[in-house]
Amino acid sequence: MSSTLAPATAQTVQLHRRAAAPAAPGPWSVAAVQALLDQPLLDLLHEAQTVHRRHWPAGDIELATLLSVKTGGCPENCGYCPQAAGFDTGVRAEKLMEPDAVLRAAQAAKDAGATRFCMGAAWRAPKDRDIEKVSALIGAVKGLGLQTCATLGMLEAHQARALRDAGLDYYNHNLDTAPEYYGDVVSTRAYQDRLDTLQHVRDAGLSVCCGGIVGMGEAPVHRAGLIAQLANLQPYPESVPINSLVRVPGTPLADSEPIDPFDFVRIIAVARITMPRARVRLSAGRQQLGEAVQALCFLAGANSIFYGDKLLVTGNPDVDADQRLLAKLGLNGQRPSAPGAAPAGRA
Ligand code: SF4
Repeated sequence: MSSTLAPATAQTVQLHRRAAAPAAPGPWSVAAVQALLDQPLLDLLHEAQTVHRRHWPAGDIELATLLSVKTGGCPENCGYCPQAAGFDTGVRAEKLMEPDAVLRAAQAAKDAGATRFCMGAAWRAPKDRDIEKVSALIGAVKGLGLQTCATLGMLEAHQARALRDAGLDYYNHNLDTAPEYYGDVVSTRAYQDRLDTLQHVRDAGLSVCCGGIVGMGEAPVHRAGLIAQLANLQPYPESVPINSLVRVPGTPLADSEPIDPFDFVRIIAVARITMPRARVRLSAGRQQLGEAVQALCFLAGANSIFYGDKLLVTGNPDVDADQRLLAKLGLNGQRPSAPGAAPAGRA
């Protein structure tokens, strides 16, 4: 693990600017991101909320549901992942789900209020015949009126184009952490492999969902390095999922020191400031945050959550609990349920 990082440069982030890119306030050096992270918390929250309200309706939270359509048996060795075949986590390898079952899950997600449906498959890289099968799923889910997202591993350029032609809206491929810490987390692929897939996704005209994981034993400078990498993508991702490690027994990172909740809030705030038009999503680990910390994350600029009782193979707050929390906070147009709370949607 290195203690200092060079600024994220055009050399490490080799993605091209596109005409439809969200306006980018960068480029961001790691030192500049670190300086934001190190601000007094209330100053940071004030700045993040100010940026947020300039770019987004205050009370709008996107609800995205993620379904594991092909679980376990993955040949990669991501140290955080219970689906890696080499780790003894109790997750059994399963085949790709049948279209009818995926459609039922997508309809249920829509009925519960989700607007985006993400399909995840535990592959290192899909084969062309896998892309054909997933393309059929994408078409069916899109037919329900949901935005579609897929996370299938590394893609080649023609595969990204095939997914686009099937109607895919977003492709998820996380950078996970800073490049300098990446080798401590996974050794079966390189950081540049991630960037290459992201480039193929961009070149195909798909929107990018790309974020990372904190609480994996990384140093503060690596958190700053991750945010700098994401913010310096040209353009930066339309969706930025920020995960807090779910420490699953049997994975190499199971004994990592949990991240301080306020440090997690800081990362959300800095993601908002550096990527003002991105959907910043509270992702894995939300169950551990509790309601008060989630409320602070919304104040810091998070405006998307993964919604549904399960997140791939780990737990997530149940739908009723999320609806109660949104109501308590007066988000998504709901009347605040707490006495004396501000009117919903006040900007
Ligand atoms: S994170 Fe994805 S690529 Fe890594 S082991 Fe898990 S399923 Fe495989």
